[in-house]
Amino acid sequence: MSVIQEVIAKVKQIDPDQPEFHQAVEEVMETLEPTTKRHPEFVKANIYERIVEPERSVIFRVPWVDEKGNVRVNRGFRIQFNNAIGPFKGGLRFHASVNLGIIKFLGFEQTFNNALTTLPMGGAKGGSDFDPKGKSDGEVMRFCQAFMRELFRHIGPETDVPAGDIGVGGREIGYLYGYYKKIRNEHTGVLTGKGLEYGGSVIRPEATGYGTTYFAAEMLATRGLDFKGKIVAVSGAGNVAQYAVEKVNQLGGKVITLCDSSATVVDEQGIDAKKCRYVMELKNVKRGRIKEYADKYNTACFEGASVWDVIRDQGIKVDIAMPSATQNEIDASHAASLVKNGCICVAEGANMPSTPDAVKIFQENNMLYAPGKAVNAGGVATSGLEMSQNSMKLTWTREEVDKRLLIIMKSIHKACVETAETYGKKGDYVTGANIAGFIKVANAMLAYGVV
Ligand code: NDP
Repeated sequence: MSVIQEVIAKVKQIDPDQPEFHQAVEEVMETLEPTTKRHPEFVKANIYERIVEPERSVIFRVPWVDEKGNVRVNRGFRIQFNNAIGPFKGGLRFHASVNLGIIKFLGFEQTFNNALTTLPMGGAKGGSDFDPKGKSDGEVMRFCQAFMRELFRHIGPETDVPAGDIGVGGREIGYLYGYYKKIRNEHTGVLTGKGLEYGGSVIRPEATGYGTTYFAAEMLATRGLDFKGKIVAVSGAGNVAQYAVEKVNQLGGKVITLCDSSATVVDEQGIDAKKCRYVMELKNVKRGRIKEYADKYNTACFEGASVWDVIRDQGIKVDIAMPSATQNEIDASHAASLVKNGCICVAEGANMPSTPDAVKIFQENNMLYAPGKAVNAGGVATSGLEMSQNSMKLTWTREEVDKRLLIIMKSIHKACVETAETYGKKGDYVTGANIAGFIKVANAMLAYGVV
């Protein structure tokens, strides 16, 4: 058995109940096979086994009081995965499905994601099985305060800097940061995604969606194509999806889908800038359901179906797919229908939204396919820029941050393409992203000796 296969087998054996983590490890590790020959020093120092083990995993009780006065308890997590190249960094996810295996998969992916950004940030992830949907502002605030009451002792601007993810947006970051400031009595860059009034960066809310679109544009350019006139499917209706729609519109494409966990809307006319602003108001302020979009604009709505179910079942033609909701939303049947309906490019805004079988289908059909850890890295990259501004105690303009984001996305794309070629896998963005991220982290780990 190869070194890589041994590591995969061990991960499955010692943590049998973490399927998402197994999937992420397997997906990354299998593409690293060629590095074991080129870098015997990594094998000798057992980097492969060390890199799949988190530096530290914290699991904690989060008690809080709901509107009726009942005491409720959720489980909190912070997985500090790898800080070889910089302080731990990665988002917090509040969603009913959150468990240890999911947070470990996200923290593992984040390590490579962050290495690709060219900025000095290690990988981490955290969150809770708390579901903000249907909770009052007061309940969300009390939960965030209870969460920070424990998290504060594990984080710090030079140690670990969390940010948002599913279920954690501007409102939650405000409550979390406010409570950290209160109990630590300090105003520091300990969280990113902050409001502009208290240390946030312009373009941070937009960064993941914009960055995803910039990356997709780079992919299209390798075949002499661009967004103009292209039909685009975006899934989700949250932070990443909203700003992906905004940027695709600016680049001349037409987005025809959005979804939440209850329904998918299909708007053949296109979700233009005005409709996109409506979605932002609906989701970020009113905290409503995407079905209301269909009611307002009189479009098709498919309850209980994902964007990819609808594309498959209704035979809808799209040129570009940008999955931006959650993990494993695209399976083999969805991938096959995208291929059949003429889709040329899949750029993952979400983390691991395609199952391994779906990825295989994209690659076998020579589609432009790139994984989330490269495509969505604009979010954490701009968080890195927020940290820089906090350290320097100054703020850059919108143009400055957007320009830096575009440069970073182009450089990530270039690193993926060049690394894939170096390792004999031309056009394989998965191999390119994994190896490029891995080499940087592995070299740093090697330099430290056995720690
Ligand atoms: P949000 O919470 O803002 O939005 C998530 C959206 O996806 C919501 O509309 C949600 O619907 C929908 N969704 C969640 N689960 C499902 C499901 N099982 N089926 C259908 N729809 C679902 O999260 P983000 O936009 O921030 O994150 C989306 C993805 O992007 C995640 O994979 C995240 O890890 C990744 N990402 C985010 C970054 C960021 O900066 N925010 C950075 C890098 C990656 P509902 O409202 O019903 O829950």
